[in-house]
This record gives sequence, C-alpha cells and structure tokens, in this order.
Amino acid sequence: MKKIFSLFIGFCLVFVVFCAIPRREVAYAESNEKLLAVIIDDFGGYERGGVDEMLNLPIPLTCAVMPFVENTRSDAERAVKSGKEVILHMPMESHVNLPLSWYGPTFIRNYDSESVACEKIDRCLAEIPQAVGANIHIGSGVSQNKNLMTAIINHLNRKGMFFCDSKTINNSACEGAAIECNTPYISRDVFLEPHGDKSYASACKYLIKAGEIASEKGYAIAIGHVGREGGADTARAILDSLPRLKEMGIKIVPLSEIAALLRKNIV
Ligand SMILES: [Zn+2]
Repeated sequence: MKKIFSLFIGFCLVFVVFCAIPRREVAYAESNEKLLAVIIDDFGGYERGGVDEMLNLPIPLTCAVMPFVENTRSDAERAVKSGKEVILHMPMESHVNLPLSWYGPTFIRNYDSESVACEKIDRCLAEIPQAVGANIHIGSGVSQNKNLMTAIINHLNRKGMFFCDSKTINNSACEGAAIECNTPYISRDVFLEPHGDKSYASACKYLIKAGEIASEKGYAIAIGHVGREGGADTARAILDSLPRLKEMGIKIVPLSEIAALLRKNIV
C-alpha cells in the first residue's frame, strides 16, 4: 500500500512539473492571438528611403537584406541591433528581361543548375551571417521552376533555415516544391504597396487586410519595402496601424516564429 502511495505521489509530481514547463507554442494555439509577420524587402541597397524609419519601429520586423550591394553588411548589423530579424533577400531572375542592375551582382539565373543556385545562396549567406531564412527579390522566372525551387528549399532546410515565397508571380512552383521537400509552404499574403501603389493610405489598407487574413487563418505574412518601392510612407503606415492591429488581437512576430509554428503544425 505504501509503495502504491509513493508511486501515486511520484506520478503527481511528474505531472505537476510537466504542466509547469512553459510551452509557448501550445500557449499560442490555445490563445486567440493571431500572428502577423511584416517583412521589409530591399535593405542593403543604395536607396535609403525609409531605412531609418523602419529600423526605429518598435516591433520585430523581418528585414530582407540584398546580398553584395552597397549597404548589405551595415544594414544587416543595424537590423539585428534594432531588434529585428534578418533574412536573405535572394535575387532571382524574372520571366521577362530586366536591367541587370536591378538584381545586384549575384543572382540566380533561370538556366542555373541546382548546384550553381545552391552555391550562390551559400555565398550570399556568408555575406549575411545574421540571416535565418530567405525570400525572393524579383524572381518571377526562377520561382516557376519546380526542380530548381525544390533544390533551393531543400538546401535551406538542411541549414535549418526557412524559405518564404514572395509570390512575385501567381503561378509560382514554390508550393509544389515545398510539398516535394516535405516542409510547410510559407508564402506572402499581401504586399503593402501592390502594383506600385506606394501611398500611405494603401499601406494602411493592406496592413488591415493582412490583419483580417491573420484573424481568419491564424497568421498572415505581409511584405513592404524600403527604397523606391515603398519607404518612409510605408513605415509611417505601419506605425499608425499598430493600435488598430492590436485591437484586432493581432501580434506582430518575426517570420521565424510563424515558420517554427507551421513546422509543428500549430497555426
Ligand atoms: Zn526586392
């Protein structure tokens, strides 16, 4: 009897300890908190519009930094110092001819072999060691190539990194590639400056739209820009939309948090 009693006490102790372990993911799943990641593309370049304003925002933005351009290293360092997350903004070729200068010096070509593409990613990641994942700069050609995208996603997975499809073209092959890699498909829900509309009002509107998507499916991913595609107006729109997003029950998190939860099938 005494033995049974001690076994019972032992079991209770283990149960109490187990319950006391902070399980953050479970807490998310049980709370009504909806998650929003805001990626800001095009850090690193010579166009500085909105860079300071974005880095000063009091939220964990995800800064997508272009490799091998004027301010790559300093922007990546400043972003981390400002409490932001850094990902590689990997330039990939379009499906139409564009000026080469739009890509920066290192980009994945439509005709690259899988090994060449992965080697380019490695060189870019060596330049931006702060990166925890990657998304796409331009890329409407490469992202339609399922084999190449499968190789890229597998390569990033092996490094413990995630890949986010910026969906710069509707028929991207990245979802199929992610399935092939047996990994969750992470993709952009809204652009804050779609079709070149980079006004303050438009960015506010699309942030709320991102909030509504997050309310519905548990999370959402928005992409805005520094430089000529967006800049200070987008930064001001984000700052001014924070109270409304909070009212909607939306929490802004680094993209890696959503990626980790998707991996565990929690959101
Ligand atoms: Zn870009």
